[in-house]
Amino acid sequence: MQQAKQILVTGGAGFLGSFLCERLLAEGHQVVCADNFFTGSRRNVSHLLDDRSFEIIRHDVTFPLYVEVDEIYNLACPASPVHYQSDPVQTTKTSVHGAINMLGLAKRVRAHILQASTSEVYGDPEVHPQLEDYWGRVNPIGPRSCYDEGKRCAETLFFDYWRQHKLKIKVARIFNTYGPRMRPDDGRVVSNFIVQALQNKPITVYGTGQQTRSFCYVEDLIDGLVRLMQTADDITGPVNLGNPAEFTMLELANLVIELTGSRSKIRFSPLPVDDPKQRQPDIRYASRELKWKPRTALRAGLAKTIAYFEDVVSSGHIRPAA
Ligand code: NAD
Ligand code: UDP
Ligand code: UDP
Repeated sequence: MQQAKQILVTGGAGFLGSFLCERLLAEGHQVVCADNFFTGSRRNVSHLLDDRSFEIIRHDVTFPLYVEVDEIYNLACPASPVHYQSDPVQTTKTSVHGAINMLGLAKRVRAHILQASTSEVYGDPEVHPQLEDYWGRVNPIGPRSCYDEGKRCAETLFFDYWRQHKLKIKVARIFNTYGPRMRPDDGRVVSNFIVQALQNKPITVYGTGQQTRSFCYVEDLIDGLVRLMQTADDITGPVNLGNPAEFTMLELANLVIELTGSRSKIRFSPLPVDDPKQRQPDIRYASRELKWKPRTALRAGLAKTIAYFEDVVSSGHIRPAA
């Protein structure tokens, strides 16, 4: 086993962060989770609270943080359009001030630092599938910009701290990821469709449903993040992490109806402004440098996610999906 490290996970009480904390603890590390609980919750990490190697602190990354760690995974930021657009100024601050603070921390303690960037940096892409060298097509002034441009600026900061201060950085561009522990009211497509199907309510397909996304199961994604952190210092990324299997939203809706045995019907609603038409990662770089590829097919991952939401629905812990 590798040497135990002190690792900071910002956004560690969120969907991806909670799986990452779990994985790092299982590898024998000491984990500090810093989260302001904007979209995350203690419930996501309740099974870790008794672990003496796990510490949770309520902290907003837009403020400085002083801890002594070897590695930092910077995941703090709401990821669902519904949540990141509810307080857009705070979203940009979280990405930009959050990156500055975590980079400043990494600089002081000489920690390796990984940024959870996003496929959203490609915007509504004209290049398909998306390769890391594509610069993207992002609206700088639309309702999604707080997230897209915030994440782009965070990438800029990471690469400037790397050039200027010789920091050990890793930038992961994460494509749509799904799985257990997404919030029932998260607003993203997989959780919306599953919650609606389990309640036999209409499935809300936005636009024509012909837009595509490529969905990665959470455990595959976490494995990619951990592998990226472990690469040699000259591997900075940005590196695409996602499952290249691409689906239209109508295909996803029909698959969820089939797997849940739901009586739900599809209801078409207006397409949100600037909604990207297509999204598919080219993962050759990750496959070469990280020896990584996703293993969970959409059907299998959805089955696990549906089982989780069945428990949530039957326990009454549910706020209706949008
Ligand atoms: P999430 O909303 O479940 O988790 C985000 C976590 O960050 C939450 O626990 C939230 O409370 C916390 N947070 C938000 N603002 C904060 C702040 N100012 N200070 C401290 N904590 C704060 O979302 P997720 O899906 O787990 O996403 C995690 C990260 O991965 C995000 O940075 C997101 O942009 C990135 N990402 C996710 C996906 C995906 O499909 N899940 C895709 C691309 C990128
Ligand atoms: N910072 C932090 N924790 C630390 C060190 C720095 O949160 O352990 C923050 C601090 O608020 C600072 C930011 O990181 O504003 C950037 O730090 P850096 O050293 O790069 O710049 P400076 O301190 O010169 O602004
Ligand atoms: N979407 C949908 N119905 C929903 C939620 C989302 O059809 O109830 C669509 C949305 O318009 C987008 C796709 O599903 O085209 C993925 O949306 P999500 O918010 O999950 O992620 P992102 O747009 O950030 O990729």
